[in-house]
Amino acid sequence: MIVARTVAEARAGLEPRRGGSVGLVPTMGALHAGHRALLAAARAECDTVVASVFVNPAQFGPNEDLDRYPRDEASDLAALEEAGVDLAFVPSAGEMYPPGFQTWVEVAELGRGLEDDSRPGHFRGVATVCLKLFAIVRPDRAYFGQKDAQQAEVVTRMVDDLALGIDVRVVPTVRDEDGLALSSRNAYLSPEERRTARALPRALAAGAEAHREGGDPAAAARAALAAEPRVAPDYVEVAHWNGRAVLVAAARVGSTRLIDNVVLEGGWE
Ligand code: AMP
Repeated sequence: MIVARTVAEARAGLEPRRGGSVGLVPTMGALHAGHRALLAAARAECDTVVASVFVNPAQFGPNEDLDRYPRDEASDLAALEEAGVDLAFVPSAGEMYPPGFQTWVEVAELGRGLEDDSRPGHFRGVATVCLKLFAIVRPDRAYFGQKDAQQAEVVTRMVDDLALGIDVRVVPTVRDEDGLALSSRNAYLSPEERRTARALPRALAAGAEAHREGGDPAAAARAALAAEPRVAPDYVEVAHWNGRAVLVAAARVGSTRLIDNVVLEGGWE
């Protein structure tokens, strides 16, 4: 596995592999089985698999967890190697945002509301870093998790709007046995908070069940969450995206903010 830390190293490493298909899996590291599902999908479909590990400062708000976000490069590189990645792109913040950087991408509608209400500017940071990664790697396919559904919509829209010619593949959410969606931020939860956090996927399941029975999924999910006072909901809404109906939720357990969703209608494949 090539480890590229600069744009020039990534380009040079990929040059000999341009004859075949290239898949990109963007990550912020602290890799878990959710990331591994994306890597496995890329490995199954592409001749060359590139994974990026970059904790993107531009997608964190001033009072968010940028400084304490879990980072363990040695273990991430071992996991990427194990997953059969050909090239790991591990740039510094200065490499991605050199002095004078001032070009930003905004996805005007999909990038507003829901996550953006709590994290203003988040999707501007996401869209910009993804476009830059796409320009560096020039992938045929890029892999994103359904777990971050609004992000997947934003990236797909950007790829279409800017005619980037990349197939955006959305991989189903990987969950722990008790239903909690895997997330690097789950590491912040105390054992008790970790148990409490199960209420979030349970509430979404209750919402999906209500929907199947002709009821109001968001109301049912909110009611289920209200039964667990240690979970503080941020939003619980039905998003209508591109023919899909997705019950999306964000909530705080202690100081940890968790997001999750369940598809009500449509789907990504
Ligand atoms: P992150 O490192 O959290 O920025 O996530 C990198 C990619 O992995 C994003 O496309 C996420 O949507 C995806 N991802 C994160 N958690 C999961 C999960 N539990 N299941 C599937 N994909 C995930």
